[in-house]
Parts: sequence; structure tokens; C-alpha cells
Amino acid sequence: MLVLSSPSGAGKTTLSRRLLEADHGIALSVSATTRARRPTEREGVDYYFVTMPQFETMIAGGEFLEHARVFGNRYGTPRAVVMDELALGKDILFDIDWQGTQQLKEKMRDDLVSIFILPPSHAELERRLRNRAEDSDEIVAGRMAKAADEISHWPEYDYVIVNSDVEKALADIQAILNAERLRRSRQTGISGFVAGLT
Ligand code: 5GP
Repeated sequence: MLVLSSPSGAGKTTLSRRLLEADHGIALSVSATTRARRPTEREGVDYYFVTMPQFETMIAGGEFLEHARVFGNRYGTPRAVVMDELALGKDILFDIDWQGTQQLKEKMRDDLVSIFILPPSHAELERRLRNRAEDSDEIVAGRMAKAADEISHWPEYDYVIVNSDVEKALADIQAILNAERLRRSRQTGISGFVAGLT
């Protein structure tokens, strides 16, 4: 289970997409959310868009591995797909916030690798948050405050990557993923293989 977290504006969505394109051994965990769908987003691909009552029914039914409130909306990781994929030995990518990461860590510490993505500078973060639309200074200041709040959780992560260059950041994520896959404890068939050698 590979978790990527970052404040918005750090380039996490691009990095997730690039990683999924480059590595077919890892699949995205598609979250459920109560937030409105953005025009470019697809149902079941980017998110499962649900109503608040549907989300609450899912909580009551124990359908979430973790769930959290982010900026007034609800987000959660549906449990079933993740457990099925893990049972098949697949790796799963989670684009979730620090609250979700903490919950997954409590439940499945040994299976989890977490990476925090940082923007290259304060000025660049502000530029990226401002670029999204022609927003007022007040709205941009609000986004900067939320980013600062998310960034304050960076020490809770296993790895930290400063995203100054997308290609370099992607290569760093792939290096982490490859190294973590090579951990002895994760190579489930290795004892039998070694026994055959000796
Ligand atoms: P956005 O609305 O911009 O897609 O996402 C807002 C924030 O919610 C991002 O930091 C994203 O990582 C986080 N998020 C998305 N899905 C989940 C989820 O299932 N659980 C948690 N805890 N956070 C999520």
C-alpha cells in the first residue's frame, strides 16, 4: 500500500497519474466522495461520487477502510476492492490526506509505505494555487492556510519528496516503490525459492 499525500498545488495528481501509466503492477484505490464532480473527472475512475446519506450508509455498513472530512466534504476508501487486490498480491496507490494515512497506519502498519510530496517553495505554491482560476487574494490566502495545515503533518510520513522537477520526483517515487517491493518481508515466495537453491 503506497500512500501519496501533499497539500493541493504540490503536483500530486500529476505524479499519481504518471506512476500509474508507467507501472502496471500498481492500481489506484478509487475513493468515494461527497464533493461535486469537476468537469474533467469521471465517475468510478477519479472518484465514486456519492450523496451525504449514501456516504453515511457506507460508514454504518463498515464499508470504509478509512474516511475523513476534508474542507467540508467527506472522503473515504472503500474496503472491498483494496482487500481483494491485496489478496491477489497487487500493490495499491492511495491519494489520501494525513487523516486517512494515520487510520491506515493504525490498521495495517507493515503493509504501508507513505510519501509526502512538498512544493519547491512558498512562492511556487502560491503561484500554483493562484493559477487555478482568477481567484481573489482572500481565496488564495485561504488555500495557503489549508496547505500549511496539511504540510504540518510531513513528519508522520516515511519519505519526503520536494517536487521541483516532475521527472525527478517520479523517478524518486519509483525508486522508493522498487526498494520497498524488494524488502525481504514482502517477497512472500522467497523462502521456498531459497530452499530450492540450497
Ligand atoms: P480533492 O477534492 O482535491 O480531489 O481532494 C482533496 C483532498 O482529499 C486531497 O488531499 C486528497 O488526497 C484527499 N482525499 C481524496 N480521497 C480521500 C480518501 O478516500 N480519504 C482521505 N482521507 N482523503 C482523501
